[in-house]
Amino acid sequence: MSQRIIVIGGGVIGLSVAFECSRRGHQVTVLEKGGFGGQASGAAAGMLAPFSENGEGADPFFRLCLESLKLYGDWQSDVKKASGLDFEYENTGSLYAAYHDADLLALETRRQWQKPFGSEPEIIEGERLFRLEPSLSREVRAALFHPDETHIYAPDYVKALEAACLRGGVQLIGNVVQLAAEVAGGRVHLKDAAGRTYEADRYVVSNGAWSGEWQQALGLNIPVYPIRGQICAYHLNEELAVSHMVFASQGYVVPKANGSLVCGASEDIAGFDTSVTERGIQRLQNWNKRLYPALERMEPFHRWAGLRPATQDGYPLLGELSRHPEVVMATGHYRNGILLSPVTAHAAADVIDGRQPPVDIARFAPERFGASTVAV
Ligand SMILES: Cc1cc2nc3c(=O)[nH]c(=O)nc-3n(C[C@H](O)[C@H](O)[C@H](O)COP(=O)(O)OP(=O)(O)OC[C@H]3O[C@@H](n4cnc5c(N)ncnc54)[C@H](O)[C@@H]3O)c2cc1C
Repeated sequence: MSQRIIVIGGGVIGLSVAFECSRRGHQVTVLEKGGFGGQASGAAAGMLAPFSENGEGADPFFRLCLESLKLYGDWQSDVKKASGLDFEYENTGSLYAAYHDADLLALETRRQWQKPFGSEPEIIEGERLFRLEPSLSREVRAALFHPDETHIYAPDYVKALEAACLRGGVQLIGNVVQLAAEVAGGRVHLKDAAGRTYEADRYVVSNGAWSGEWQQALGLNIPVYPIRGQICAYHLNEELAVSHMVFASQGYVVPKANGSLVCGASEDIAGFDTSVTERGIQRLQNWNKRLYPALERMEPFHRWAGLRPATQDGYPLLGELSRHPEVVMATGHYRNGILLSPVTAHAAADVIDGRQPPVDIARFAPERFGASTVAV
């Protein structure tokens, strides 16, 4: 049965949930306080890298990431068809670099536990590695190759999601001023500073790093915090040829189809400040020239920053609230919101439709941090 759904926040998560709910026949409105895709989502490097981003083991978060990678092929093609826009989907594979013999053991441990999950990881050393990546530093001792890891161009992806939503009949309302929630008659109601009210059958909270602002109204502890990521891009050239995503313990580089090399990213605590600092970019430059010595002689042509929505335990908040089942949380995706957008969209829409999500989301229950200390 068609429901009226209000999605709060027009980043990759809110737009993906809106797209999925709309194509299932629901009437969807997205409320965004700024421009669509203008925060973390538009700043992302666009890596779809469950293996490289999860080195420790096959925990529920890794499984969520992996499920999302599996969904990506059909998802990205559906978004492209629905929007008429391209946003790349480059199957370059990835290399996770190690500098010392001692790190090889850690790479081998990763390879062993990741192998059953289908990506055929392989450790590549010596001349074979430098044939794959000729500009890579000769200090790199070996790398773990994952052929299935891919990337998209995040700024274009969010534009395509916005267009797909519009074409699909989603109402997109930007520049909403001071959206506030209150509970009356046992249900949540939304109001903006102009006194406009927004009523729906279901509300999806997906306003990223700002999601903690609902904790008082919902009577729920929502420990979501902004972690700033500073990031920069260089022009690729003959001296700097990069064909894979390359990770090292302190950073990564991603070659884009537009001839740029995106190098990221810092993890700073700076409140809601999205400015770029000289120190932050300098640190990235120092890491990256260790990976690609040609970067020593180059300056980034673009520098920017975004706020990742981090949670207290590193896992997203995904599911409905038992006390307010009209509210579904879909937030706290920290470093992997671009990767996790398809699985989050499917899971949130399944919760709304009373269906079983594609993967077990019990571990991501949004009420796991308990009640807010502020009474409602
Ligand atoms: C530098 C950097 C690199 C990254 N690289 C990758 C990567 O390679 N791969 C990957 O998977 N992930 C990556 N990420 C992480 C990814 O960008 C985030 O996890 C993802 O964008 C979170 O999406 P979101 O929609 O929750 O948040 P956002 O994109 O921040 O969207 C939240 C939206 O909510 C709006 N909003 C806030 N409060 C309100 C309110 N009260 N009312 C209405 N609207 C509101 C905001 O204006 C914003 O538009 C990266 C992040 C950064 C910063």
